[in-house]
Formats: sequence, C-alpha cells, structure tokens
Amino acid sequence: MAKRDYYEVLGVPRTATEEEIKKAYRRLALKYHPDRNPNNPEAEEKFKEAAEAYEVLHDPEKRSLYDRYGHDGLQSTGFQGFRGFDDIFASFGSLFEEFFGFGPRPGGRAAPRAGADLRYDLEISFEEAAFGAEKLLEFEKLETCIDCLGKRTAPGTQPVPCRLCGGLGQVERRQGFFALRTTCPQCHGEGQHIPHPCPKCRGRGMVRATKRLSVKIPAGVDDGARLRLVGEGEEGQHGGPPGDLYVVVHVAPHAFFERHGTDVHCQVPISFPQAALGAEVEVPSLYGPQKLTIPRGTQTGDTLRLRGCGIPDVRTGRRGDQIVHVVVRTPTHLTPRQEELLRELAALEETASTLTAEPPRAKKRWPWSKGQ
Ligand SMILES: [Zn+2]
Ligand SMILES: [Zn+2]
Repeated sequence: MAKRDYYEVLGVPRTATEEEIKKAYRRLALKYHPDRNPNNPEAEEKFKEAAEAYEVLHDPEKRSLYDRYGHDGLQSTGFQGFRGFDDIFASFGSLFEEFFGFGPRPGGRAAPRAGADLRYDLEISFEEAAFGAEKLLEFEKLETCIDCLGKRTAPGTQPVPCRLCGGLGQVERRQGFFALRTTCPQCHGEGQHIPHPCPKCRGRGMVRATKRLSVKIPAGVDDGARLRLVGEGEEGQHGGPPGDLYVVVHVAPHAFFERHGTDVHCQVPISFPQAALGAEVEVPSLYGPQKLTIPRGTQTGDTLRLRGCGIPDVRTGRRGDQIVHVVVRTPTHLTPRQEELLRELAALEETASTLTAEPPRAKKRWPWSKGQ
C-alpha cells in the first residue's frame, strides 16, 4: 500500500511549525489511542500512521530529507516506521505522558480528575486591609509524588493488567439475552494492578506537601472578602486541571476606628470649653494626625467629616471619609479655681434664663455602632 503524505496524515500545511505539528499529532493520538479504540484495526492503523508522520516531521533532519526526497529519502536513515504499539510507546513514552498526563500502560484508563479547591483563612490588620499588603501563605496541599511522578508504582516496576477484567477496566455480566458492562470491581475501572506501590506516596501518586505562596492583598479589601487564586489548589490527577485556592480575608478590629464601607468612624472626646467656644484639635487618622475644627456650640453626638481620610474603594481606589463623632466630656476633678469659675458661670446662666425642660429624647445610640 502506498504511504500517505505525512503532512496530509497530520492535517498540517508544509510550513507548519514544530508546535503545530505536535498539536496535530496530539489530537490524532488522543482520537486513535488503543485504550479508546479497543479491537479496532482501523484506529490502530491510523494511530500508527500518525505516530510515523510525527516521528519524521518533528525531527528537523528527517523532515528536511522527507521534504526533499519524499518517503525514499528516509531509507538512508534506517527509519522504517513502527512495528506496533510497543514501538510507539517506547519512542514517545514521555510525550504521551505530556499529552495525557500519564504514561503508556496496559489498559490505563484512569480518567483525568480535577484537583480540589482549597480554602485559606487569612487574618490581616485593619491597616493592611486599608492599604493592601503582601502576605505569605503557608498551607498543605496534595502534589504529584516526585518519586513515581504520579504513576503510583515503585520506581523500576510496572503495573500489570488487572486479572479480573484483563485490563479493560470493565467486566461483562450476562443476564439472559443481555450483556451488562460494569466497572471492574477489582481495579475500579483502571484496568491495572500495581504489585509494587511507590513507597513514598503509598501508591496514591500524590503526597501532602507544605506550600508557601505570596499573595497580594488589594488595598480596600473588606472583612469576608474572597480572593481566588486560579490553579493554586490541589493538583489534578491523570492530567486533570488543578483546583483553585480561595483566600478568605478576616480583618482584625481596630482600637480606634470602625469601618463602614469606605468610611471610617471614630469617637473623639472634647472638653466643655472646647465644645462651647470652638477649637482646633488634632485627630488621629489612617493617614497620620489631622487638624479638625470644632465649631462653637458643638454637642455630644455631632459628627464632623474629614474628607478623603477613609478607606480606598477596592475597585476604583476612591477614598471614603473619616466621620468623627464628638463626645463632650464633663469635667470630674476640679481645682478650686476651676470650681470657682464654673460656679460663676452657673450664677450668670441662672440670671440669664430660667431652665426649661427639654422634651425627652430617645436614648442616644451611636448610629454607627453595631448592636448595643
Ligand atoms: Zn509515589
Ligand atoms: Zn479490573
């Protein structure tokens, strides 16, 4: 039978790059893999044909000979194509591992399995949430065992086909006219038995490893936020994709500030004369001490605003405000002179006006305090 053109076999143009050739071969190898096409001579032929085409075209020397002289040009290299599967697997073992995530093994039909997602609870300070931070995470996750490369067999040993299903991964049960195929109970569908499991991972192919990972916490992140780190979860098996890592942020409370959205609230005590006469005071903020003007006649519970002293919005970066809740402190320890002055003031007030009762006010609760 005349040999088909190798480029035609792989379905690539003659100008195809190495990467394109590899991709094309991967597609065909997956399609015609003997594990997927048991007892199918046509697929077998296609599988061999593709392997041969790839063998020639991925090797620059053989490819140039083929380009110039066609199939005849290759005879000088001693290349004759492949005799069978064993030949192909022996030549491309590592390539198949790359393609499928596992090596060529008899009946190996372990399906790719995605790695599990992981959750990491990260406690950060109020300031770290406001300004952002770089944190080092340390956690355990399952990784491919480096001794057996996830193949689960002790180095230097091979799995053998499952004796119950003969490597098919399925067993047939006859019931009257019907033949029922079920997953092999012995090998759980893998088609193989591992007589010598890898001692390091105890034949699981995965080991628990401590992982360190640096993560950037964006400025403005709030309590309970979840950061998703794609692909940082547990590794997949048999070529499955890795899971994701979710970092759940917990922001520690601050001694002075309380956060509401992008605004921060705080309580600032002032003296009675400051409240009555007005004053210029210094108030701590996330951005250092700020000057704040207390207007004349300020009452307890009045709020003053420091614009732009809040927390940046995690998306836009726009800062909120700092809301200062004023508390007028009544003096408790008076010097004789202070007492004298206050009495004088009291006497003046009595002559100036008679006391009038104020309507009862609802018990004051800070509008920003949570619960009681
Ligand atoms: Zn191992
Ligand atoms: Zn079996």
